[in-house]
Amino acid sequence: MALVNEHFLKLPGSYLFSDIAKKVNTFKITHPKSHLIRLGIGDVTRPLPQACIEAMHKAVDEMAQASTFHGYGPEQGYDFLIDAIIKHDFAPRGISLSPNEVFISDGAKSDTGNIGDILRHDNSIGVTDPIYPVYIDSNVMCGRAGVLEEDGKWSNVTYMPCTMENNFIPEIPDKRIDIIYLCYPNNPTGTTLTKAELKKWVDYALANDTLIMFDAAYEAFIQEENVPHSIYEIKGAKKCAIEFRSFSKTAGFTGVRCGYTIVPKELTAATLTGERIPLNKLWNRRQCTKFNGTSYITQRGAEAIYTPEGKQQIKANIDYYMQNARTMKQGLEAVGLRTYGGINAPYIWLKAPDGMGSWKFFEQMLYEANVVGTPGVGFGPSGEGYIRLTAFGTHEDCVEAMQRIRKWLA
Ligand SMILES: *Cc1c(COP(=O)(O)O)cnc(C)c1O
Repeated sequence: MALVNEHFLKLPGSYLFSDIAKKVNTFKITHPKSHLIRLGIGDVTRPLPQACIEAMHKAVDEMAQASTFHGYGPEQGYDFLIDAIIKHDFAPRGISLSPNEVFISDGAKSDTGNIGDILRHDNSIGVTDPIYPVYIDSNVMCGRAGVLEEDGKWSNVTYMPCTMENNFIPEIPDKRIDIIYLCYPNNPTGTTLTKAELKKWVDYALANDTLIMFDAAYEAFIQEENVPHSIYEIKGAKKCAIEFRSFSKTAGFTGVRCGYTIVPKELTAATLTGERIPLNKLWNRRQCTKFNGTSYITQRGAEAIYTPEGKQQIKANIDYYMQNARTMKQGLEAVGLRTYGGINAPYIWLKAPDGMGSWKFFEQMLYEANVVGTPGVGFGPSGEGYIRLTAFGTHEDCVEAMQRIRKWLA
């Protein structure tokens, strides 16, 4: 008899997006003539940059000839892409990496979810709250999160609230935690940490022998000077942090699938007897066994992002989204709502007025303004009382949505 991994049975269903869909459908049935604007989408909408399209077409043609055909590639990714990443994403920020510290993958969701394979099941976990659900759920699946308690929190997870009261800057824990997940710029709040604030986390990690999982999927959206693009801009971070990057939001690769993970060679974790093991070796072994590389065509597409044309084209798309974010932020603040994020990230974290709950505000916005957001409480207990709006829609929809919200609240 095959036995199931019963940790999966502890996972509550993920009802957030199906609950939203149900409420939206009910609205549509009762209001067939109204036009809804969706500011809840977590996917990009701009097409792929032309440079990527051309590179991928060319790669397809190479696949058509025996002399230029590519079969299995290196599990870690092709050197042409790894070299471009080091040269363009890290070297200009004073970070030196060697090629075998970079692992190309099919995206940051898989890597942030899979990284737990190389760590014992009984490490303690810390997360900022609200949070990208993958970090917790992937730990639940291997039993590392413990049991779900009455308050909706997992017993082996420390939640670090990020709310307007602390300006969305999580407090350094007063105890030691083995593994901490940080995501900056943040999904869902759109907020960032300054270099000085991130340094406190690196210092904490070095002092407490904590491993930081740093998700920088929104790095390309950073506009302000003092916001770190990589955790390795902070001295000592190579000894305590793994960094995840993605081309999904940067270059519209959500449907193409490519990202990468940095595991520095000096980063180690311990065995029970105290021996230090380099995590780079373990992750390499894990990838070589369970992953067979990102497609050649995809990696050629990703490489093209680093050409002068590619850089200009992804910047145009990011500028488009960030213009939406400005339109929304200004529009919402003009009617007296409090907004956070939206400056270095394509997300606006909107505080519901008068202490209203996330779901109540969601429904009011749906019925009164015909605008759809995402209830903040769906991202964790500290998200209660907030709504997430994304800047991934069209300019026209953003402008129209703000007019409707103004009319509703005026
Ligand atoms: C979108 C997103 C990712 C990227 O996931 P991919 O698998 O690369 O598409 C990673 N982390 C966060 C927080 C995200 O919002």
